[in-house]
Amino acid sequence: MVDWSGGGDRGAAPKKDAIWIGAAGAEPEYMRNRVVAEARLVEIMEAALAAGKRLLIGFDFPFGYPEGFARAITGSDDPLALWEHLADALPTTADGRDRMDVAAAMNARFPSGGPFWFDAFGKGHVPMKKPVHFPISEWREAERKAKGAFSCWQLGGAGSVGSQALTGIASLARLRARFAGKVAVWPFEPMEAPIAFIEIWPSLLAAEVAAGQKPDEIKDAAQVRIVADAIARLAPEELAEMLTVHAPEEGWIFGLGHEPTLRAAARHGRLANDCFALPPGAHWTPVDEALALLRARLAPVTALHERPLDEAVGAVLARDVVALRAHPPLANSAVDGFGLTSGLGPGLHHIPRLPGRAAAGLPYDGAVPEGHALRILTGAALPEGVTTVVLEEDCRISEDRISVEGPLKPGANCRPAGEDVEAGATILQAGRRLTPADLALLAATGHGRVPVHARLRVAVISTGDELTPAGASLAPGQIADANRPMLCALLREAGYDVVDMGICPDDREALRSRLHEAARKADAILTSGGASAGEEDHVSALLTETGSLALWRIAVKPGRPLALGLWEGTPVFGLPGNPVAAMVCTLIFARPALSLLAGAGFEPPFAVEVPAAFTKRKKDGRREYLRARIRNGRAEVFPSEGSGRITSLSWAEGLVELPDEAVDVTPGTPVRFLPFSGLLR
Ligand code: AMP
Ligand code: MG
Repeated sequence: MVDWSGGGDRGAAPKKDAIWIGAAGAEPEYMRNRVVAEARLVEIMEAALAAGKRLLIGFDFPFGYPEGFARAITGSDDPLALWEHLADALPTTADGRDRMDVAAAMNARFPSGGPFWFDAFGKGHVPMKKPVHFPISEWREAERKAKGAFSCWQLGGAGSVGSQALTGIASLARLRARFAGKVAVWPFEPMEAPIAFIEIWPSLLAAEVAAGQKPDEIKDAAQVRIVADAIARLAPEELAEMLTVHAPEEGWIFGLGHEPTLRAAARHGRLANDCFALPPGAHWTPVDEALALLRARLAPVTALHERPLDEAVGAVLARDVVALRAHPPLANSAVDGFGLTSGLGPGLHHIPRLPGRAAAGLPYDGAVPEGHALRILTGAALPEGVTTVVLEEDCRISEDRISVEGPLKPGANCRPAGEDVEAGATILQAGRRLTPADLALLAATGHGRVPVHARLRVAVISTGDELTPAGASLAPGQIADANRPMLCALLREAGYDVVDMGICPDDREALRSRLHEAARKADAILTSGGASAGEEDHVSALLTETGSLALWRIAVKPGRPLALGLWEGTPVFGLPGNPVAAMVCTLIFARPALSLLAGAGFEPPFAVEVPAAFTKRKKDGRREYLRARIRNGRAEVFPSEGSGRITSLSWAEGLVELPDEAVDVTPGTPVRFLPFSGLLR
């Protein structure tokens, strides 16, 4: 994938706005100018042909112009005739300065004014201003669909594409002539040659690029790397579908109209296929070991973007944030009273009073002379000269003076500038879920927008032939799908976007397509049911096919095997079907995993130690979570530990966590209580 550039030579050291070439699975290459880039492309193409490989090369500029332009310039509707025209008119040079003359010459074909505008060199070869009437449409069909794309007529200005289209098409036309018969230009020619040129627009993957750009990596380099990797990961049918378009004159942007598929492919591979693998040999893995593994292997998968404060509550901060200004910005009064120019010694003081006052938002304009007092209200900036404020209630007030009993310390009742936060101080750290109070702090320190992770999207699928949706009547052998409403609600409370994928029967192919759809729509997938190793356990069977299945046998009660793996790069948490086990596994294992994927890191859940109100003897070797609640300062547990008891989940307000070792709990024994509220995020 090539990020082309219309500009001149960029020097020997890698820089932005140069030409970058990215190949799937490789480090992007920097090209200082077009001469170097064209030569490098020749090398790459020759090497592929010699090796008998096929090559798909993408370029980030339009291959065609809006309908009618090719004919106006060449007399033919064939866009490739226009390519040849440009190849003749624009030789490859390092500076590319002649492109404005070429555009001006094409403009001259239109008696009422040509479409090209914005002379990047300011020489007036083409108009600086956008034409009021375009002789040819301003937009191609593709650009009408690609929000934010620039018009190919605009030759200058940040982000414009017009100049690089002229030089780029000229270079590609030369390459096409040099490799005659070996290159197909999409979508104008059948894709039958060993090398294909396609038009790309990396902004289709803007969010994925923002999320995947490495620290210190130049954005253009990240773009070509991430787009190349994404396209390389498309299934052959997906690639074929994206290449099937009808745009014989204007051309098309590869992937436009197929963004979810392309985006999913870009996210794919961010997690290693063995990211859930447990250490070999361990039959029953202790809870803490399993959690440490998640922490070590899972990383944020969400894109980064800026959000206004009123949309940011609950979002995960993407970067550390510093105060843009001090809080308070100016020294001000903490009370209603009188501003003085110094502290006061003991005894009664009569102080002459100035006319006027200082109020919040209405600062006193002038200085307070030594030994005078000025009326001041809470929040008012301290006028020049004022260092101390005396409380109104401590004064006897008359028209022209106040009387005060000392002593009064210098600085009394004043809030210094920056008392709360100094400008430049770090106020919030990356990974924090923004609270309502954080929004106050951000606003006070000068922020209107904050960099946050996009909300994690989590798909939920219930599996089982026996399941019917809540509220539906039951045929013999059926039960209601209790897990889905519970899991969807848990995820929403945790601040995630839920993609409810309904019920899937115990059918491998049906589940396969459901997982495919879920992987396109979400960043993580929770399934319930079918996670063991039985003949109807299709979740684990399908994850086995991908080679990513890790069947987690954790030393925990309640617990059934958890099937973890990646489906098309998207993490899948195969929860047990039993609602009690499904909920406990979600809270204990899926919660921290999702938090890591969402960029929020993972803190151990909030717990308090309280005396038990129950008796229980527990053996060594596995951790136990009891459905519990606190009454009269003591932890009660549900009378039955049966794992089929949905009533127990509803009754409970949290879990009592008993350690891996043996314990003997009697009334009064301290136990750890984890409230559900603390287990949600
Ligand atoms: P499985 O994990 O598929 O073997 O299911 C274990 C038990 O949980 C079976 O009794 C299932 O009927 C039940 N079960 C599975 N999914 C659900 C669900 N979504 N809601 C309620 N019960 C379920
Ligand atoms: Mg089942």
